[in-house]
Amino acid sequence: MRAVGWEVVIGMEVHVQPTTRTKMFCGCAIAPLNAPPNSHTCPVCLGLPGVLPVINKAAVEACLKTAVALNCEIPRHTKFDRKNYMYPDLPKGYQISQYDLPMSHDGHLEVGERRVRIRRVHLEEDTGKLVHAGDRLHKAWESFVDLNRAGVPLMEIVSEPDIRSAEEARDYAVALRTLLRTVGASEADMEKGQLRAEPNISVRRTGTTELGVKTELKNINSFRNLYRAIDFEVKRQIEALESGHDVVQETRGWSDAEQRTFSQRTKEFAEDYRYFPEPDLPPLELDPAWIEELRRALPELPEARRVRLVSQYALPLHDASLIAAERELADLFEGAVRAGADAKPAANWIIGEVAPGGSVPTINQLADVVKLVTSGSITRDQGREVLAESIRSQRSAGELVAERGFAQVSDESELEAIVREVIATNAKAAADYQAGKKQALGALMADLKKKAPNANPKMANEILQKLLQ
Ligand SMILES: [Zn+2]
Repeated sequence: MRAVGWEVVIGMEVHVQPTTRTKMFCGCAIAPLNAPPNSHTCPVCLGLPGVLPVINKAAVEACLKTAVALNCEIPRHTKFDRKNYMYPDLPKGYQISQYDLPMSHDGHLEVGERRVRIRRVHLEEDTGKLVHAGDRLHKAWESFVDLNRAGVPLMEIVSEPDIRSAEEARDYAVALRTLLRTVGASEADMEKGQLRAEPNISVRRTGTTELGVKTELKNINSFRNLYRAIDFEVKRQIEALESGHDVVQETRGWSDAEQRTFSQRTKEFAEDYRYFPEPDLPPLELDPAWIEELRRALPELPEARRVRLVSQYALPLHDASLIAAERELADLFEGAVRAGADAKPAANWIIGEVAPGGSVPTINQLADVVKLVTSGSITRDQGREVLAESIRSQRSAGELVAERGFAQVSDESELEAIVREVIATNAKAAADYQAGKKQALGALMADLKKKAPNANPKMANEILQKLLQ
């Protein structure tokens, strides 16, 4: 939404579960989603006294790869801190996180035309989960604690408030997911809770620089809901301010059922977590040679791929941005071109027919249809139908074209006969064209399409102009 007179200011806090076999500070395996409660726990992640945490090197490596890919600075010294607070899903009474010496800081991510600055990327551990049960009738309520997730590694990626719309916030999260998958740091599947985005949102009058009061959104579990929740929140804040009310600084949740945000917790007082250095973990010394090695081993990043799609295939920047934003689409595009499809039509097909959330064709399915349409064997509409059907039934494009009798008439002598007939029955339009009224060609082509709907329109047009000269 673009509200006249208002500027939207969004910063994003994203928690990502790096791909590791075990938890952040103990040897417990990461529990699958359907694991029985508390089946993946040990004295360390249960927070029993007298046990010592050990840093998971794979998590550190995933965090550093992400930080390097986000153009962050990596300091030599980093450490872990205790963030103290009391909640039943946190039996230790503190969460191990990073406070004043994070693993990385000051990077950026290009999202379309916007450069979003990254404030920091650091490592911490997840908390447990509360499961509420009981029935309203007997007023018997019970809550259970499942600590399978306690101690699961999390990377926290914090952006500066550089995002200006709900669309950009969604694009930022998608770009982050593509980057994380590309470097192999995380599967970043939002539905599985491996990527959790918490946008903070405020609005201000256009032309002012002071930040407005912000709200923070939680429990968003898809890119679509991320867009919807922010869009709703922006409208809500603008309506409140325009009708003379204040925006309250608070945490708000998103209700999928009601399609609205709702107040969860007001932040009248700044929380005081009394951070202090984790005494059971040594500060980490990051060897610059190791960082350099990680940097050199990075695969081609989405931003570099976007630039290459422009230079190697002469794609417009806009097309390249859309395609490079998702690795699956970029692989599909380059595969189809290798399979013989022309680059620009292949890009058009991906952007127009594949991108908006539908099923994705295989490389050969796409390449076959693009080739048939580009060569004029079938029309674009027919190509659309063939592509959809070949995805559905896994049958080849050639087979479907033959079955439906879609093949266009592209035989030159056959077309010439049709064109001669069109000229004969439209003598006036033909004479007009020859006298210089170029638009008379439209009437001739319209009649041709009526007489021979299957005629290859590009070839027929050429023959028509040739015969009229
Ligand atoms: Zn454990």
